[in-house]
Amino acid sequence: MKIATSFSATYTEAREKFLEAAAGAGAALQRFYNPASKPDGLALTTDVARLGDPDAPNMLLTFSGTHGAEGFCGSGVQVAWLAEGFWREVPDNVQQVHVHAINPYGFAALSRTTEENVDLNRNFVDHASPPQNENYHLVQPILCPSEWDDGTLERMAEQVEAFVEEHGFWTFREAATSGQYQDPQGIFFGGRAPTWSRRTVEQITRDYCSGLTRLAVIDYHTGLGPRGFGERIVDHLPDTPGFDRAMAWYDNDASSPYLGTSTSAKLTGQMLDWIDSNLPDVESTVIALEYGTQPEDKVIGALTADNWLRFHGDRDSRLGREIKRKVRDAFYQDADDWKQMIWDRALDTQRRALRGLTG
Ligand SMILES: [Zn+2]
Repeated sequence: MKIATSFSATYTEAREKFLEAAAGAGAALQRFYNPASKPDGLALTTDVARLGDPDAPNMLLTFSGTHGAEGFCGSGVQVAWLAEGFWREVPDNVQQVHVHAINPYGFAALSRTTEENVDLNRNFVDHASPPQNENYHLVQPILCPSEWDDGTLERMAEQVEAFVEEHGFWTFREAATSGQYQDPQGIFFGGRAPTWSRRTVEQITRDYCSGLTRLAVIDYHTGLGPRGFGERIVDHLPDTPGFDRAMAWYDNDASSPYLGTSTSAKLTGQMLDWIDSNLPDVESTVIALEYGTQPEDKVIGALTADNWLRFHGDRDSRLGREIKRKVRDAFYQDADDWKQMIWDRALDTQRRALRGLTG
C-alpha cells in the first residue's frame, strides 16, 4: 500500500478523492454548500461521510480542515482510512462519521482562517461576552504590519525576540495565539458571530451525535511541534472524566495545555470543547491530533504574511503566489516520509479510539 497517494495537492483533488473513497466504502454522503465567494471559481463544500448502523450507540467522528490549509493532512488520513479498507475494522456497535473540509474556504484558498478571516477553533464562544485577550494589543503591531517587503520577517523576528525577552515566551504565545475578539483584520481572530463553518459543526453535532452513548472525536491539525510528530492534545480539563478517559485510551501519550505539557497555548472558543459541552448526555472523549511541519518561525512567518496578503496584498501577484506556497508548506509537507508518519500515528490513534469506545 502506498499511503502517499491518499494525500492531495489541492482542495479540489482532496474532495474528489474523499468522495470516491467514501462511495467505495458504501458511505452515506451529505454535502454542505459554503456560500463564500470562491477563490478561482471553485464550489466550496463540506462533505460528510457516514458508515455503519445509524442506530449504533457509539461513534468515531473525525474532522479535517478546521484550519483550512491544514486540511491536506486530515484529508489524507480520511481518504486512506476509507480507500484502503481500514474502515472495516470498526465494530458493529460503532458508527463512523468523517467530516471533510469543515472550513472549505480556508482549505481552497490556502489560508488558516475562514472566509470571515476567523480562526474556527477560536469561534465557539458566546459572542455577547467574548473572552478578553489582555496582551493582544502588545503583539498586534509586531505581527500585523501594513507593509511587506524582503526585510519584514527579519524585523518581525527581532521584535518577537525582544518581546519574549521582556515578557516571557508563554506571554507571547498566549497573546498571539490563544484567540482575540477585538481585531477583525488580525491573526487568531475568533470572530464577532458564529461563522458558517461553526454553524455547520453545530448542525452536524445535532443531526449525527445526539442520542449517542459514547463519542470519540479526532480533529486533525498541523503546524506545531517537530516535523511529522503527532501530538495528541487533550481538550478536556484535567481532573475530569473526559481527561482521564483520554489519558487511558491513549496510554498517557497525550498532552494538555492546562498542564503545560503541550506545544499549544490554552485556547478560547475551541470546537471540541463546544461539542463536548453541548452533548451533556453523551460520554465524549475529544482530542486534536497536531502534527509538526516546519520550524515554528517559518509557520508564524507564513501566517503573518498570509494575513497581510488578505488585507493589503494581491493574491495574483508574484508575492501573493509566493506567500500562498509558503502557507501550504507551513501546513503540509509534500514528502512521502512525512505522509507515512502522519498515517502511522493516525492509524494508531483511531484504533485506540475504537478500543476505548468499545472497552
Ligand atoms: Zn490547527
